[in-house]
Amino acid sequence: MSDRRAELDAAVDAVRAAAHICRRVQGQLAETRALEKQDKSPVTVADFASQAVVCAHLTERLGAQPVVGEEDAAALRSADAEAVREQVVERVREDRPGASVDAVLDWIDAGNAAATGERYWTLDPIDGTKGFLRGEQYAVALALIESGRVVLGVLGCPNLSHAGELGAVFTAVSDEAARVLPLSGAGSESGSPVRVADVSSAAEARLCESVESGHSDQSDSAKIAAKLGITREPYRIDSQCKYAAVSRGDASVYLRLPTRADYQEKIWDHAAGKLVVERAGGRVTDVRGAELDFTRGSTLAANRGVIATSGRIHDEVLEAVRAVRGE
Ligand code: AMP
Ligand code: MG
Repeated sequence: MSDRRAELDAAVDAVRAAAHICRRVQGQLAETRALEKQDKSPVTVADFASQAVVCAHLTERLGAQPVVGEEDAAALRSADAEAVREQVVERVREDRPGASVDAVLDWIDAGNAAATGERYWTLDPIDGTKGFLRGEQYAVALALIESGRVVLGVLGCPNLSHAGELGAVFTAVSDEAARVLPLSGAGSESGSPVRVADVSSAAEARLCESVESGHSDQSDSAKIAAKLGITREPYRIDSQCKYAAVSRGDASVYLRLPTRADYQEKIWDHAAGKLVVERAGGRVTDVRGAELDFTRGSTLAANRGVIATSGRIHDEVLEAVRAVRGE
């Protein structure tokens, strides 16, 4: 097996294992308490358990790996966090029976690598935690970055249906077509190619955007849609499921329009999704048309927002964004 195939296989199995835990936690949402992080964003038992399980799988299959993950175990290590810590450990044991508390905390912190060097993974253990807490869409997003290029991406989408089954995993590696696999199952071999919609004019496109109006400017997106002649209501969906939607033609435009001048997009919110859309035949840039730059550490500091499309209509969409936002 080539290294890339082994990496993809491990990544798919890691994401599946984490997604199954997230799904069970989401099924008991009434008992799930969200904690608040320093930046006021929510984090749950499932975010921590997901990061632990992904890091454990990658280490077991590939040896120690640098992982730049969204979460860390610092808050869980404090004495007053015992109740949450116990719940996280219980969840991780669903995948790793008998795992010790220390092992679980260490797996979470295995995801604290710096986004420097030639090769590292980036992980959002639950992208769209707000959607997860509403009982809606979220994704487990894992990507591999080499020399500033995203070379492998896996998006686990437990609440997206595929081939009549709830739960889908989208995969992409450089130079190969993106694929979609069922969430159940093992390995990365099965599944089918995904392809963006064949849309030649933006007026035919369906647009998707965040549910959260604080994450993307919905009033500007309505103006851009009007300018493009798009009449359908926007498809509002949390997380990198938006990239999955564009990759398989549920939508043909994803607009992420900054609502704040100082916000820098995080690499784990975009790396996997970007490669899936590109390998499905689409295009991804920032709002000014620049390539997403993954050489700046853990954020896309050189970029503003994100535009993903089915490809042919990309320049037309960029032109409308420029006209409305002057960027
Ligand atoms: P979405 O589900 O597409 O709305 O995106 C969820 C992601 O938005 C989270 O993982 C956060 O990292 C990110 N986020 C948080 N604040 C902002 C913001 N002000 N602008 C854009 N993205 C944000
Ligand atoms: Mg996220």
